[in-house]
Amino acid sequence: DLHPVRRALLSVSDKTGLIDLGKALAARGVELLSTGGTAKALRDAGLTVKDVSEITGFPEMMDGRVKTLHPMVHGGLLALRDNDTHVAAMEEHGIGAIDLLVVNLYPFEDTVAKGGDYDTCIENIDIGGPAMIRAASKNHLFVNVVVDVEDYEPLLAELDCNDGQTSYGFRQWLAQNAYARTAAYDAAVSNWMAGALNLEAPRRRAVAGQLAQTLRYGENPHQQAAFYLDGSARAGVATAQQVQGKELSYNNINDTDAAFELVSEFAPADGPAVAIIKHANPCGVARGTTLKDAYQKAFDCDRTSAFGGIVALNQPLDGETAQEIVQIFTEVVIAPGASDEAKAIFAAKKNLRLLLTDGLPNPQDTGLTTRQVSGGMLVQDKDVGHRAMDDLKVVTEKAPTDEQMQDLLFAWKVAKHVKSNAIVYVKSGQTVGVGAGQMSRLDSATIAGVKAQRMADALELPESLAKGSAVASDAFFPFADGLLEAAANGATCVIQPGGSMRDDEVIKAANDAGLAMVFTGMRHFRH
Ligand code: 5GP
Repeated sequence: DLHPVRRALLSVSDKTGLIDLGKALAARGVELLSTGGTAKALRDAGLTVKDVSEITGFPEMMDGRVKTLHPMVHGGLLALRDNDTHVAAMEEHGIGAIDLLVVNLYPFEDTVAKGGDYDTCIENIDIGGPAMIRAASKNHLFVNVVVDVEDYEPLLAELDCNDGQTSYGFRQWLAQNAYARTAAYDAAVSNWMAGALNLEAPRRRAVAGQLAQTLRYGENPHQQAAFYLDGSARAGVATAQQVQGKELSYNNINDTDAAFELVSEFAPADGPAVAIIKHANPCGVARGTTLKDAYQKAFDCDRTSAFGGIVALNQPLDGETAQEIVQIFTEVVIAPGASDEAKAIFAAKKNLRLLLTDGLPNPQDTGLTTRQVSGGMLVQDKDVGHRAMDDLKVVTEKAPTDEQMQDLLFAWKVAKHVKSNAIVYVKSGQTVGVGAGQMSRLDSATIAGVKAQRMADALELPESLAKGSAVASDAFFPFADGLLEAAANGATCVIQPGGSMRDDEVIKAANDAGLAMVFTGMRHFRH
């Protein structure tokens, strides 16, 4: 199943590594064919190249839309070398076999990322490139197809191992990758168009991913897993940059993303904020006068759960905060940046992972989320809904004080990132009790209260941390019981969407209990 590589067609937009590859192929006696810009680059480097236009007998035309779309090219890629009629057709028409295709496509994704206008994006849709890639891939019984610069070296290594030939398994591997590339390319075009046309529910949706990292295992050790990029990050910045620490696991990535998304609710200009996450739920979130202060407050919400947590910062990590973080075992720290001093402190903790997010898409940007269900996937807009002070409606006799209002809005932002049913108690810019993921809202209110009491006991405080707190509920209280439970735990003001059939009953209960309550008119379920 070994086949020699005698003739190669190179046509690349990204010319990285091209000259070295061209030289290496020429040195191995491979004849080079190429399109305009690629041929010029190879010639400028002193290599002998044949122009595709010479082979087709047609000039490149229509602004490059038609260059390689010709039987002399596609016949050379698709002909079965061991099929008599195919070989006869090649002879009859003077078609030379092409054994290796090296193509990377017009930079459509980059053009979109750079904000290109409609016509520019359209012009950057490569036609001949994908056509050749698909042809060469189909004929992987004989033909090699390389679509990634990172595969130039492995290709040369394969040729050297096999005396200028490649194995069937190698060509199959290349073809699988190549089909995923053209699929991703067309997915990018289609998704861009769905956005440009403002289609709410396009009839078809394509998803594609590029391997960023293999993972040791998935959520559990018996599950295989890998991390794929969807192309939304800035070109050149694939994922958050890992500065140090052990390899990230599946759960690390999932939890760290939750942490990053939560902390992105707090603009750096509004002061330091820190979130500590466990199993994708926050166990402590706080604002502070300094980053260190915010970390300490977040930690003090629930010291037990914070152990082995993920810490997200809305400002660059500084030395004093780093010093504080290393006092306990932490899995991951994610921040927009880190000072040299902070990096030096972390360096002593070899396993601690430090991730920097500069260049990652802002989680507050609009976009889509998908979720797998049996037989399909659910696609929706990301929850980037926000409520400001002016959006809130006071529904009780008492109105919140300014201070309470600040805590209500803070609690609301946190509740959005807690699995439903979510109940969050906040006091002075610090969560003091988080109830997550319960099947009844009442249970979430109870659990958050238990946590606030437990932490007060640990700190030897006379009363629950939830005493005098603001409470947020991610969805309306269907009955008064959850609200009364919150009041019993010490909450004095409430923020919730409203909209229940029994709003009147709930409002009456709030008034009777002396609470101030505001409605947001917006729900933040998170399942
Ligand atoms: P070059 O820089 O060599 O002039 O152009 C290389 C680019 O042209 C590659 O990205 C390749 O995929 C693309 N390409 C090759 N043939 C065709 C074609 O027939 N039509 C279009 N639109 N692009 C082509």
